[in-house]
Amino acid sequence: MKTSQMFFPTQREIPRDAELISHQMLVRGGFVKSVAAGVYSYLPLGWRVHEKISQIVRDEVKLFGAQELHMPVLVPRELLDESGRSSVPVLFALKDKNQRDFFLGFTHEEVVTDIVRSTVNSWKQMPLYLYQIQTKLRDEPRPRGGLIRGREFTMFDGYSFDSNEGDLDAIYRENYRAYERIFTRCGLKYLAVEADPGAIGGSENHEFMILTESGEDTVLRCDSCGYAANAERAEIPPSDVSDRPDLLVQDLVSTPGAHTVEEVCAFLKVSPQQLIKTIICTASDGTVVAGLVRGDRELNLPKFSRAVGIGALELADPATVVRVTNAPVGFAGPVELGVSVYVDLELKAGGNFVVGANAADAHLLNVTPCHNFEVTGWADIRTAVAGDSCPRCAGGILGDARGIEVGHIFKLGTKYSKDMNALFQNDKGEKYPVIMGCYGLGVSRTMAAAIEAHNDANGIAWPISIAPFEVAIIIANMKDEAQTTAAKDLYSSLKQAGVDALLEDRDERPGVKFKDIDLIGIPIQVVVGKALAEGAVEIGIRGSAEGRQRVAVETAASYVRNLVQSEKDKLQAS
Ligand code: ATP
Ligand code: MG
Repeated sequence: MKTSQMFFPTQREIPRDAELISHQMLVRGGFVKSVAAGVYSYLPLGWRVHEKISQIVRDEVKLFGAQELHMPVLVPRELLDESGRSSVPVLFALKDKNQRDFFLGFTHEEVVTDIVRSTVNSWKQMPLYLYQIQTKLRDEPRPRGGLIRGREFTMFDGYSFDSNEGDLDAIYRENYRAYERIFTRCGLKYLAVEADPGAIGGSENHEFMILTESGEDTVLRCDSCGYAANAERAEIPPSDVSDRPDLLVQDLVSTPGAHTVEEVCAFLKVSPQQLIKTIICTASDGTVVAGLVRGDRELNLPKFSRAVGIGALELADPATVVRVTNAPVGFAGPVELGVSVYVDLELKAGGNFVVGANAADAHLLNVTPCHNFEVTGWADIRTAVAGDSCPRCAGGILGDARGIEVGHIFKLGTKYSKDMNALFQNDKGEKYPVIMGCYGLGVSRTMAAAIEAHNDANGIAWPISIAPFEVAIIIANMKDEAQTTAAKDLYSSLKQAGVDALLEDRDERPGVKFKDIDLIGIPIQVVVGKALAEGAVEIGIRGSAEGRQRVAVETAASYVRNLVQSEKDKLQAS
């Protein structure tokens, strides 16, 4: 491709709404164009990157026998009714002319299970792994950061079907390894972490995180044993400290206007560790429960939901809090509360805590679980933080980092096959639900995460495997015929050798060309300029400290080919 013919509307200004570097650079480099919040067109350069990532994904999953198919974006409502997912909040819903309900596909477990139940009925037809790379639509409440969180985005979604748990374990491992190869080939440092299964359900699951400061997720990991988990999920080992101090007499105190933990602590001159937060939550059937954590901790809703076991719990709305506690929001407490009370394990130690008094402007002092109120259940319901003990090894301490979730893989088990009646016959003729796994990878999010991980003041530093072009040949002076001829010759021989080369042949000042080539992140840069008078061109790697090397024009093509190969090899080997 020649830049003189290429459509790449670069811009100098940083788009006003773009906070993340990747968002700014994708727009500035002419990779994408915003259409609506969370909806983008991919311009030719952006689509090249998108397709290179997609191809790496295809190459790697094919290695374990995955087969590509393509499912529709329109999904009839009945399919999601079968699995109970027709009220998932991010669904885009619409009606056709005959008032029939449809959703726009947000993930395709139901559609693929429907294909399999009508075609697979014997253990002999499995293992089976089907995947697609397709547009997904989710009405995200907060579309953010360009391609990081879109409302329309591209996902690789794979689905496995097995007749026994052992085969599921095997395919899960194969897929896990394929993801490791994919992110390595994309030049990305990833960390696979244990994760919360969320709405999809199922047992074992891992998220693949790209570690960068701008990540939305917090991951915790143990430097001693390598345990790594999303902070949402990380377990907290039960502590053997359960000592109680001498218990004092419960006391009602007035705390006018003190609602928050900080306000109450300042007013009563106690530390947050001496206070218990009482958090009122509701289940979808309307049941109200309370979760208690120390004043300096956060209640973890997924853990709390699992502990209570009546489905996903949500924070209660203010009206419910007022109804249940007979007090304004901010004064809930466990004493005589009238709903089930679950207490975080950490509160087995210590005593004489401060709690809300279920009355306006009042708190209770000297309250201890089991002594002053009944405990329905003890459980690990707080969110883990850096400094917590490792749940897997003795003596390990968890550290934290920020990450972008680029992939999420699940062992689903029989969740969808049971709900949707996808059965097979085993070798004894008995019928069982198919055992499933599902595997998601954000193609568009990976593109943005790669920029978050690889950029500098001049623009994007794409890893060579996913750069829109591998090499740019920059003609310094278009009026110099020797330069244009030598550059075109080099361009043709690189193309012939299968190198993805770009010829920068615009009639622009050299400074403008260098800036644009740096901005769009072409990793190998060849300058055909003044040195040509001495029979040389200058070749270098974008942003490298060594700068550009002079190379004789006759050997330039083979020099570049070797450089491309060695850059690619670095990504394979790491
Ligand atoms: P998140 O927690 O970030 O909302 P999720 O857990 O809902 O994502 P999954 O259903 O696990 O996402 O989707 C699989 C993959 O698809 C994710 O790991 C991510 O890479 C990608 N993905 C999910 N939602 C979006 C989005 N709104 N925009 C871009 N990529 C997305
Ligand atoms: Mg996920």
